[in-house]
Amino acid sequence: MKWQQLVGLDNLSEEYAFGRSDSTGYTSAKKIPDVWVPTTCGYCSVGCGIEIGVKEGRAVASRPHASHPVNRGKLCPKGLSEHYTLESENRAKYPLLKKNGKLVRVDWDEALSVMVERFRATQAKYGPESLGVLSTGQLVTEEFYTLGKLVQLGFGTNNYDGNTTLCMASAVSGYKISFGSDGPPGAYEDLEKADVILLIGANLADNHPILCQYLEANRGATVIVADPRVSKTAMMADLHLPLKPRSDLALLHGIAHILIQCNMVDRAYVDAHTAGFAELEKFVARYTPEYVEEITGLSQEQIYKTAFAYGRAKAGFIGWTMGVNHSTLGTATVNAICNLALLTGQIGRAGASPFSVTGQCNAMGTREAGFTSSLPGYRKFDNPQDRAELSAMWGVEESRLPLKRGLAYPDIVEAAVAKKIRALWIIATNPLVSFPNQDVLRHGLSNLEFLVVQDGYHPTPTTELADLVLPAAIWGEKEGTYTNSERRVSKVNKAVEPVAEARSDFNIFLAVAEKLGCREEIYPGWTTVEDAFNEWRQVSRGRLCDYSGISYAMLAEEGAVQWPLPEGSMPAGSSRLYADGQFQTADGRAKLVCVDWAPFPEQPNVDYPFVLNTGRTVEHWHTRTKTREVPIPERLSPRAWLEMNPRDARKLNLRSHDSVDVISRRGRVNCVELPLTEITAPGQVFMPFHFAETNVNEVTQDAFDPISREPNYKQCAVIVASSEANR
Ligand code: SF4
Repeated sequence: MKWQQLVGLDNLSEEYAFGRSDSTGYTSAKKIPDVWVPTTCGYCSVGCGIEIGVKEGRAVASRPHASHPVNRGKLCPKGLSEHYTLESENRAKYPLLKKNGKLVRVDWDEALSVMVERFRATQAKYGPESLGVLSTGQLVTEEFYTLGKLVQLGFGTNNYDGNTTLCMASAVSGYKISFGSDGPPGAYEDLEKADVILLIGANLADNHPILCQYLEANRGATVIVADPRVSKTAMMADLHLPLKPRSDLALLHGIAHILIQCNMVDRAYVDAHTAGFAELEKFVARYTPEYVEEITGLSQEQIYKTAFAYGRAKAGFIGWTMGVNHSTLGTATVNAICNLALLTGQIGRAGASPFSVTGQCNAMGTREAGFTSSLPGYRKFDNPQDRAELSAMWGVEESRLPLKRGLAYPDIVEAAVAKKIRALWIIATNPLVSFPNQDVLRHGLSNLEFLVVQDGYHPTPTTELADLVLPAAIWGEKEGTYTNSERRVSKVNKAVEPVAEARSDFNIFLAVAEKLGCREEIYPGWTTVEDAFNEWRQVSRGRLCDYSGISYAMLAEEGAVQWPLPEGSMPAGSSRLYADGQFQTADGRAKLVCVDWAPFPEQPNVDYPFVLNTGRTVEHWHTRTKTREVPIPERLSPRAWLEMNPRDARKLNLRSHDSVDVISRRGRVNCVELPLTEITAPGQVFMPFHFAETNVNEVTQDAFDPISREPNYKQCAVIVASSEANR
């Protein structure tokens, strides 16, 4: 305390002064900004418009962008406190290089020289494919586009993937198989226009809270929620289907069976626009209501009600998120959702759509512009025309484009275990919390000869293992665009300077290319993020995700616009894909897909009697690197918990708020608080996945969808025991 305070000459009047803010009324004078900078929320894929209040060069407030088309003047608790992420204690501030076993501060020149030298040396010794890159859904689209070129043309490896594979890869694979291309067909407005809304494995209220206002606005709709838990979203439903874990695929085939049996198929649509109806009719014949009742645990009445509601809908919407994707059957389940939409012609019209609600703020951007699951612009690795077109635009030999996608995320980890990947560059993701079965991951990372982690935060469990940490600017400190779940492209603006020596990911990629000696070849004349955007617009021209009509000036004026927007056209309300019934397949027809249901890989038994489900909570973001230093969400939800049904607790002699250990065949999590609740059914338990200190991924299993390679996070068999008893 200063002496002036001690003797009463300073009563901290400046510190505690208040004033009148135009948005919040009377408030602390320190939090009244000089200027509001419009941007887009950097957490989830809803893509809310937000304004950052800046006072004397510091971010002091966040408020909703009143006229943004997505959020209409509202934000969730994360968005309302987002400015705190910029000055949190755990920001990465300086490049750090491991010397004598310790991370020490170095300058950018040394950091990037060492990185390029070590990557080049590894590739020279073990081959180009020995370098892997794990990216994210958190960068701006321009950075994904820039990074894709750098990885492929600069480093010459196609072992490049992102944490979107842990999140939305099954939606991508499912869309590609059913419709011939990635790209969510619908729009948020469909939630207001549908008369029947079926949500499967989608807890919007916790994970995409602002979308609930669309549901609430549609008072006349019948809302059906299929979820093993009585989630907050299930509580909003007219009909909750508490199906057994991972039985959703059987339910969907059962609905298809009833639609066909009860003449609720739109035969004109099916005949004109789909392929495979005869095979599907034969295939779903065995998914009788009796059989589906047995698999799902739902009554036949519930199954019929759902099928009839959807089959008779004027505009039927099916939305899904991680409950579907986080599964070894994720792709097949997405295909089964698309089957229902195609059978009933519920696609390409207002209110009628199968619709994936994505996870991260710009997971869509990496899918469109990145090099992970396809070539930029949803071009196919194995399509000669796509390859020729792209290489001509870039002025490079076609042979420099990969013929197939490289290793997916879990396969990069496996390759590190097998010592095939020897150097890894991890960008804006924290696998030491988020990857399933942490033991395997730790083994893989321990085999690496050089690990670079580029992140806005340090320390994280992943940066602590790095040989080199590159400090990156985050949301609020850089410019670009995000695409949200409904294909709406929104501007991201810089409000404050990057902290300390942090640089934007875009600048880091350009500097790495400079060190590699390929900057001018792959980024000709580029100096700004807009240069990358303008090249990306040309690369996307004529593709499903056509950005050619979008400019930064348009985004500043319109707030946000949906693709496709070919040059010369003007944005008009909400748009939908496939309104003309023409799909991105060779014959223009969508495919009806037949894949059988199967039980999830690790069933409970007498030794491991509970099925563990994992998920998110509204207060936190992913591995909590962003939210753990933000007072509001952190105080609302400071630690992990394990939900259990009271009937199970009675049998185990456990009481509410006991401390328990969760144990699987792979590991254990100690000392988790046990709330007892009917939200979770007997035989099941639920735990959020945000907490590094009590990391549920110590026990989850490394089983993956065979096509998308997405992990089966949602079900594994565990024991729950009192922590006291285990000491
Ligand atoms: S709903 Fe998502 S995009 Fe909107 S404010 Fe919340 S976290 Fe941000």
